[in-house]
This record gives sequence, C-alpha cells and structure tokens, in this order.
Amino acid sequence: MSGASGRAAHPRTAARDRAAPRGRGAVVTGENLTADVAVVGAGAVGAATAYFAARAGLRVVVLDRGALGGGTSSAGEGNVLVSDKDTGPELELARHSQRVWREDLHEHGQHWEFESKGGVVVASGAASLAALRDLTARQRAAGVQAVDVGPDELAALESELRPGLAGGAHYPEDAQVQPVLLVAHLLRLASAAGARVLPHEPVTAFQRAGERVTGVVTPRRTVAAPAVVNAAGTWAGEVAALAGIRLPVLPRRGFVLVTEPLPPTIQHKVYAAEYVGDVGSSDAALQSSPVIEGTPAGTVLIGSTRERVGFDRRTSRAALAALARGALGLFPALEGVRAIRAYHGFRPYCPDHLPVIGPDPRAPGLWHACGHEGAGIGLSAGTGQLLAQALTGRPTALGLAPFAPEREGLAA
Ligand SMILES: Cc1cc2nc3c(=O)[nH]c(=O)nc-3n(C[C@H](O)[C@H](O)[C@H](O)COP(=O)(O)OP(=O)(O)OC[C@H]3O[C@@H](n4cnc5c(N)ncnc54)[C@H](O)[C@@H]3O)c2cc1C
Repeated sequence: MSGASGRAAHPRTAARDRAAPRGRGAVVTGENLTADVAVVGAGAVGAATAYFAARAGLRVVVLDRGALGGGTSSAGEGNVLVSDKDTGPELELARHSQRVWREDLHEHGQHWEFESKGGVVVASGAASLAALRDLTARQRAAGVQAVDVGPDELAALESELRPGLAGGAHYPEDAQVQPVLLVAHLLRLASAAGARVLPHEPVTAFQRAGERVTGVVTPRRTVAAPAVVNAAGTWAGEVAALAGIRLPVLPRRGFVLVTEPLPPTIQHKVYAAEYVGDVGSSDAALQSSPVIEGTPAGTVLIGSTRERVGFDRRTSRAALAALARGALGLFPALEGVRAIRAYHGFRPYCPDHLPVIGPDPRAPGLWHACGHEGAGIGLSAGTGQLLAQALTGRPTALGLAPFAPEREGLAA
C-alpha cells in the first residue's frame, strides 16, 4: 500500500511553482499529484470513502474547498438510526451501515464517541400509535430490532417523559456519534493508510479525455485519477455540473437547539412518531417534530426542523420556537433550562429521498457518493465501504442499483 504520489512536474510548471509569489491573494501552486481515486469533499461521506479506499490499498487524494468536515457534517446531530426508515433501499443501507459501524469500525468507535444508546419513539395518541405499530411490524419483517412498548414501559425507559403518552417503540440498534470527531478521525486514519488530505482546495474543473473524467483541477494543482468521487454533499449538483451532468441534489434546511449542560436526564435518542413522516415528506414548508438526545458533554440536542428555503442562512425564530415547544411537550423537565446556542445546516436532498452512490455512465470515471439528506452521518460508514468495494472491482455487500445516478427517481 502506498501513498498518493507526487508526479514529476512539467519543467514549466516546476518553474512556475518556484516563481509563485506568496502572500495575500496570491495563487500558490502546489505539486501536481496522481492517485487511484480523487475524493471531492471531506465531509462524513468523503472521509468514510477515503478511509475504506485507502485501507483497500488505493492511492487516495481528498480535496475540500473549505475546512475538513466544515460542510453539513458539522451542522447536524450524530444519529445513526434504523428506526426512522421504512422498509426499502435506505433501510437496507442503514442496516448495512450498522454492521460496518459495529464490526469494521468497532475498534475506532471511541474516537467519535460511538454510543449504542438505543432509540425510543413515542406516540402521543391512538392514531400515531397505530401508524407506529404498522411501521415496527414492517421493520421487524425486514430484520430490524423494533420492540413495541406500552406507556408504563416508556416511563421505565425514560423517566422524565411526559406522562399520558399512548405508547411507543424501543430500537436497541439506534446509536449516536459525534460527527466532527468522526470526520477528523476517519481522515486521520485514511492518512495513516496513505491518503493525502487537502483542505482549502476547491475543485473547479475536471480533467477529461473525451467523455471520460481523468482527474480534477484546483487553483493550486491537478490531481490525475482514473476515478473521481463526488462527495460534495449539498453542493454535489454543482460538482456534477462541472462534468456537464445534471444531478438534482438540493438543500433542506434544519435547525438544532443546544441546552446548557445538564446532569444525565435523557438516556436514549427520543423522538415523536410524527418525525418519520416528516423525514419522508417532500413538503417545502416548515416541519418540526422533536428529536432529543443527551450528549457525553451533558448538553441536550433538540432537533430538528425541515424546510426547503434554498441556502437561506438567516435564523428562523419560528423554527427555534417550534423546537423548544416540541421538546417541552416530550420532556417537561426541560422547562427553565437555558438554550445556549442554535445552529443550522442544509441536508443534501434528492427528489426521491435516496442517496446517489456509484459510477455515472454519463461520464465514465466519475462516481457519486452524495444526497444522503438527513442520514448522511449514519449512512457514511456503509456508503464508504460499498464504494471502496466497487472501486476495487469487488462485489459490493449491497446492490447499488437503487442508488444509481441514472435511476428514474432523479429525473423528477
Ligand atoms: C439539522 C440537521 C440535523 C442532522 N442530523 C443528522 C443525524 O442525526 N444523523 C445523520 O446521519 N445525519 C444528520 N444530518 C444530515 C447529515 O449532516 C448529512 O447528510 C451529512 O453531513 C452529509 O455529509 P456529506 O459528507 O455528504 O456532506 P458535507 O458534510 O456537506 O461534505 C461535503 C463537502 O464538500 C465540500 N465541497 C463542496 N463543493 C466542493 C468543491 N467544488 N471542491 C471541493 N470541495 C467541495 C464542502 O466544503 C463540504 O465540506 C443532519 C443535517 C442537518 C442539517
């Protein structure tokens, strides 16, 4: 296994490198590189792809236009869920990712605070409980551990929950990670396996040989690679457009409220049954159903809203108020607790709510790993491993057809 190598620069390039002025605003050229795989985007998905590809013996270069993990991966929560997915390809990817988190990545879990804490979904009334029971039955048939619980068992699982709830479900497989640590450590481990990681290098063009994508171009260098992975998250459509490809990845804004640190109050990841419907909805209007969890630092994360407002970065009082109301509706003990901050991000959203994973036949050499919407942290592990298998020509542990870039659902 070897690291991404510096290619002998063309004499003229080398002269330019030496002559490049350093200083504010100056373009400082770096050495041109060759690799087996260039990964565009150093979020959770790009980092996991880089990790598994480097571990599989490929020479990997990862490029990000900003700080490592500075995209949506630093603007969400860290839930690793099977509970919020109905049966179908996304649930299969989530179940595959569970295996990767717990087996392939097990030895590193402490670096990103992997906590197998389990999820508790609560239904406030008879109608939402009936819908939840239908969902858990389908999920169990697909192999998920989903345990139906009554009101008394709910109280035993989470003592601070509002009394009078209709019932719920317990999902022992749901887990949590700290996403910023996840990205940092996956990239550190990828580097240790020979990958080259280049922050603050925007990919501005592709190298081409006819239709084929043969590398990437940044303001500082070229990286020649027979495979280029588009892991640019919510901006993956812009990166695909550099190859003349249409890829409808859109932003879906979400806010999270963070409380002051508290003594342990909430043991599981707890959310309202209505959340599953919000996740699958294509409505553009503000949706908010409470998703609440404690963190090892003692703060409680209160998520999360969903709305399609483009890349509007303004704080929404309506969204934050809805989050606070939802949290108090589930946990009255949070009354009087201070929210110390709020943040937001833009989920990478495809019209059919499935990610795009695999080679793009419209531009051979270009691969995609993007569009994971509100589940890209949890699904990053499985996605990275599957792509590394495909990039090395091995059979993939899960079929990639439902995630193909040319599927019908992306034409909408
Ligand atoms: C409020 C909220 C809560 C969430 N909660 C959860 C959760 O609990 N669990 C979960 O699994 N998911 C959650 N998500 C979703 C999750 O955060 C995303 O699905 C995930 O971070 C996507 O990761 P990514 O690596 O695809 O994208 P990103 O992390 O956005 O990484 C893409 C990177 O590409 C870079 N880039 C873009 N263009 C270029 C270019 N031209 N050249 C070089 N680099 C480029 C960007 O700088 C960025 O760093 C949440 C999201 C939000 C907003």
